[in-house]
Amino acid sequence: MKLTFRRFDLQLAHAWAVSSNAATGGKSFYPTVFVELSDDAGVRGIGECAPSARYHDTSDTVLAFLGKVNPARLAFDDVPGSMAYLETVAPGNYAAKCALNVALLDGAAARAGRALHEMWELGFTEGRHVTSYSIGIASPEKIREKVLLAAAYPILKLKVGSPDDRANLAALREVAPEKIVRVDANEAWRTKEEALQNIEWLAADGRIEFVEQPMPAATGLADLRWLRERSPLPLFADESYRGAEDAARCAEGFHGVNVKLAKTAGLTGAREALQAALRAGLQTMLGCMIESSLLITAAAHLAELTDHLDLDTHLLITNDPYRGVTAEQGMISFANTPRQTGLGVEERR
Ligand SMILES: [Mg+2]
Repeated sequence: MKLTFRRFDLQLAHAWAVSSNAATGGKSFYPTVFVELSDDAGVRGIGECAPSARYHDTSDTVLAFLGKVNPARLAFDDVPGSMAYLETVAPGNYAAKCALNVALLDGAAARAGRALHEMWELGFTEGRHVTSYSIGIASPEKIREKVLLAAAYPILKLKVGSPDDRANLAALREVAPEKIVRVDANEAWRTKEEALQNIEWLAADGRIEFVEQPMPAATGLADLRWLRERSPLPLFADESYRGAEDAARCAEGFHGVNVKLAKTAGLTGAREALQAALRAGLQTMLGCMIESSLLITAAAHLAELTDHLDLDTHLLITNDPYRGVTAEQGMISFANTPRQTGLGVEERR
């Protein structure tokens, strides 16, 4: 097996800010790393990492990890064995392991002559899976502009956790009075009382679907339960839901969970995280970091295990190097993917 990888900066159309970096105005590009595996039989698999500082990953930690990998220990016909080997290279490093897991499964499904969702017997129902479109933290004027640009998308996800939250929701409602809106606080509210007060304000809007991660991931179970009992809106765990091992705890403190490939070391872990959440009676959502069409399309193969999709960041970047699923009016579709097997992703030419 041959392994190659390259750093690539994903450029955003608008600076991207969430509660943790809103004060500094957000970021205009996100460094990522793309990997490619190819075997002697000519089978090829591609992957992407989406490193997030929140989970101690950067493009540098990804490059360092990949530099330590012996590609002879990776095989498209033994993905579990390959992942077990990667655990011996170094603990953690979920982003780097994500890129390799995605590339291994792309190759495994290509080798089987099937789309990944077929190989995993999940299927994919066209016309069912609509992604939300994310509006990052910005000034009310910028929010108005971004919401107008997102007119084609029926569901918005508004990032909150800044002093401008009320002005920002008001600005959104000026131009999108009826749209369904999801809200993501990214751990911004420090106490259960502060969280409840904000959620009650959001519920008064009447068109808020749910609230994601109101409090820090380190919040104790007693406070999570307190908020869950009183919240007028469903609560989804993101930073609190790393993977399947958190399902029982999240079932007590939330109504649903947001699964991301960068948190679960790829598709294998994401599938387990979704299945564990469903078994625990939780609603499920698939989300993303700042990602190209490669990783967004990889995640879309798991759509049948979800109630909600938030797979939109390929729509926010201006230099997407890949083509995969389409998202017209937010509807995720495999109908026009450039390949019928594996992930279905090709490089843009
Ligand atoms: Mg989130």
